[in-house]
Amino acid sequence: MSNRFSSVEEIVKFGFCMGCGLCAAPSLTQGKIEMSVDDLRRPRPKLHQPLSEHEERSIISICPGINVIADAKDRSGAAPDPVWGHVARLNLGYATDPAIRFRAATGGVMTALSMHLLRTGRVAKVLQVRPYPDQPLVAVPHVSTSPKEVLDASGSRYGPASPLTVVSQLLDEGEPFAAALKPCDIAGLRNLQRTEPRARDLIRFTMAMFCGTTPDLEPTLAFLDRSNVREEELVSYSWRGNGCPGPVRAETLDGRVAETTYNDLWLSAPFKAQFRCRICPDAVGELADIATGDCWPGGEPMGEDAGMNAIVAHTALGETVLAEAEAEAVLATHEYNLADLNAAQPHHVRLKQEVKDRLEAKYGAGSPRANFQGMRLDILSDQLSDEARAQVRAATIKRIESGATSETFEMPEVIKD
Ligand SMILES: Cc1cc2nc3c(=O)[nH]c(=O)nc-3n(C[C@H](O)[C@H](O)[C@H](O)COP(=O)(O)OP(=O)(O)OC[C@H]3O[C@@H](n4cnc5c(N)ncnc54)[C@H](O)[C@@H]3O)c2cc1C
Ligand code: SF4
Ligand code: SF4
Repeated sequence: MSNRFSSVEEIVKFGFCMGCGLCAAPSLTQGKIEMSVDDLRRPRPKLHQPLSEHEERSIISICPGINVIADAKDRSGAAPDPVWGHVARLNLGYATDPAIRFRAATGGVMTALSMHLLRTGRVAKVLQVRPYPDQPLVAVPHVSTSPKEVLDASGSRYGPASPLTVVSQLLDEGEPFAAALKPCDIAGLRNLQRTEPRARDLIRFTMAMFCGTTPDLEPTLAFLDRSNVREEELVSYSWRGNGCPGPVRAETLDGRVAETTYNDLWLSAPFKAQFRCRICPDAVGELADIATGDCWPGGEPMGEDAGMNAIVAHTALGETVLAEAEAEAVLATHEYNLADLNAAQPHHVRLKQEVKDRLEAKYGAGSPRANFQGMRLDILSDQLSDEARAQVRAATIKRIESGATSETFEMPEVIKD
C-alpha cells in the first residue's frame, strides 16, 4: 500500500473523514458522490459511480480530512503559538445587541460579525448551518442573505452537518460570501482556495468556532429517552443558546418541552467522538480569519452567564474586521491573554499535544499518511512526558485493534500556567 491516500473510500475507511461534504459538492465530482449516514449517523460520502482519475486526485488534494495546511505566507508578525497558531489579536468580547448575545451559542460574536459583513457589503451571503426542519438533530447548510437569517442560523449544533456540499453552487452563483462554520469546514475552504481561483476571489471572510469534537448522538438520544421524547416527535432541539450556555431544550409537535442543563448532558457520562476529531490538527480554527469560543475558566460553565466569547483574530483581515466591528459598536471587547485562554480550553491544549502520537500509532498500523503541514505537532508532542506519549499510542493502538470507529472523549484536568 502506498503511504498516501489514493481514494475517497480510503479516507473514510481509515477514519480521516469527518463528513464536511466538500467531496459531494456537485461541480467537484459531477454528482457521483452524495452524503449518506453511517451506522452511528455520521455523514459520510457515498459513491454512486466511480470517480475519474482527475476527480479522485482533486478530492484527495482538497479533502480537509487529510489536508490541513497552515500557510505561513498569509501570516505576519510574531511566531505562532504552538496551540493557537498566529495570534494577531486576542480578546474577550460579545455582541452589543442583547438579542444576538442572548440567542447565540456564547456571546454572539460569529452572528454579529456575519451580520456586519452583510451590512457593510463585504459579502452578499454567509454560509452557516441550520436545523433540518423535520429532523432538528441534523443540521443542513444554510446560505444567509439577511440579518434575520443569520440570527436564525445562530447557536451550536452538536449533531451531523455537511455544510460544504453547497460550496460549488456558491461559486457558480459568483457573489462574494463569508463562512461561519467549524474549523475543519474552514480547512476545506482554504484547500479549495489553493486550487480554485473563484474560491480565492469569492470567499472573502472565514470564521470558525473552537471545536472540541462533533460528538456522537448518544448523549442527546439518551436525554430524549430519559425525557420520554421520541426523535420523530421533535419540532425543535437546541444544545445551547437562549442564555449562556442556556438550556438543552427539546420541543415536540404536541407542545411538550424537555430541558436539561448543558453540563448534565455532557458530563453525566463520557461521550464519544469520531476518530478524525481525536487527531484534529486544527480544532481551534487557526486557518480562519477569526476564531471564537467559550472562556469559562476550567473549560465548563459554572452556571448561567451573560455570554462572553474568546476571540482570536488570526489574519490581518481578521484584525481589520474586528476593529471595524468595535468601531461601529457591533462588538464590545476586553483584554485577554493566552494563559487564561489555555486554562479555559484545557481539552484543546491536551488534544493538540496528543495528535502526533495518535497519528504515529495510526500510521504504524498501516494507515496512509495525512498531509498536515505547519501545525507544530512535534513541538506540542514534546511537551508531554514519555509516559504520557506512550499511553496515547497504546490507547490508539487498542482502539484500532478493537475496530471501534469512535473514541471516548474525556475532559483533562485544568491546565495551570
Ligand atoms: C461541534 C461543536 C463543538 C464545539 N466545541 C467547543 C469547544 O471545544 N470549545 C468552545 O469553547 N466552544 C465549543 N463550541 C461552542 C462554540 O465555541 C461556540 O459556538 C462559539 O463560542 C461561537 O459562539 P458564538 O456565540 O459566536 O456563536 P453564534 O453566534 O451562535 O454562531 C455560531 C455559528 O456556528 C455555526 N454552526 C453551529 N453549529 C455548527 C456545526 N455543527 N457545523 C458548522 N457550523 C455550525 C452556526 O450556523 C453559526 O454560523 C462548539 C460548538 C460546536 C458546534
Ligand atoms: S471531503 Fe469531507 S466528506 Fe469528503 S471524504 Fe473528505 S472529509 Fe469526508
Ligand atoms: S474536532 Fe476537528 S475534525 Fe472534529 S468536527 Fe471539530 S474541527 Fe472538525
